[in-house]
Amino acid sequence: MMEKLGFIGLGNMGLPMSINLLKAGYKVYGFDTNSQAMEQFIAEGGVGLATAKEVAEQGDIIMTSLPTPQIVEQVYQSEQGIIHHAKKGSLLIDFSTVNPELNDSLHKEAQSLGLRYLGAPVSGGVIGAIQATLTIMVGGEEADYQSGSKIFGIVGKNIYHLGTSPSVGTRIKLLNNLMIGFYTEAVAETIVLGEKMGIHADMLYEVLKNSYGQSRIYERNYVEYMKNENYQPGFSTNLLLKDLKLAKNMAEEAGVPLRIGEKLVDLYSDISQQGYGENDMSAAYLSLKEKCKI
Ligand code: NAD
Repeated sequence: MMEKLGFIGLGNMGLPMSINLLKAGYKVYGFDTNSQAMEQFIAEGGVGLATAKEVAEQGDIIMTSLPTPQIVEQVYQSEQGIIHHAKKGSLLIDFSTVNPELNDSLHKEAQSLGLRYLGAPVSGGVIGAIQATLTIMVGGEEADYQSGSKIFGIVGKNIYHLGTSPSVGTRIKLLNNLMIGFYTEAVAETIVLGEKMGIHADMLYEVLKNSYGQSRIYERNYVEYMKNENYQPGFSTNLLLKDLKLAKNMAEEAGVPLRIGEKLVDLYSDISQQGYGENDMSAAYLSLKEKCKI
């Protein structure tokens, strides 16, 4: 018999991921604090419930895709949280990007209450969530990974079980997002400088896409967002900023000075304060253009 699934956090990532699980024939119970997200989930065939607690009580496998570590902590560990209301033996899978210590503490508490937990952050963006081509970076026990693998195969394409530490996937995910922070600003600076010198961004792209300046982020930010003048997230500046702060903390703990990386927190804080926090991160370009008055 197919397990019953729970999905909490039906946002840019969680909604398309849960839709793929519905399409695969699973019964999915869902909860989001945003009523619009709930309506969309229900319209796709999901069963909407009023609280995370109710989802935890119903599901055999409970998944989360939530914006910040603080919210993840609350949804899992508060009195009304998942950990205190999930059925014994349930598998909890967190797809959110959090701090590694939180993965470790959730795993420990879940285990002490007879539950199983995997930290499983993802990469690949909203397109990856829609097309089920996400990269999934899983940390946790082998048997739990095996139990979750049918879910991972439905929502993602490149699935990595990286070890028994519940936070190993998060550490790699934060390294990835540090790179994204570098590249996103690099694309913005390069295009604005080109434009200021009279070089059209399309012409620049035509050449650089066949040169070493090319990157997946250049492709994404320029072709999907900037070229279409579409800055609806995607991946918001504020979420990137959250991950860069987490990466900076991780580097401090490891004793590695991030010579440029640590400046990225101030940079994206500025971009957010300029008013681009809820825009896609590619709006770094708009922010720089505004500063150059072009
Ligand atoms: P989002 O803000 O679009 O979605 C988060 C959802 O959680 C929202 O619908 C919000 O209403 C809901 N929510 C907030 N508090 C809640 C609560 N207490 N209970 C239930 N629901 C609650 O964010 P997203 O872009 O979908 O990202 C989700 C996670 O995935 C984040 O940790 C993010 O860093 C990570 N991520 C995002 C992307 C991307 O491209 N957007 C890619 C990889 C990883």
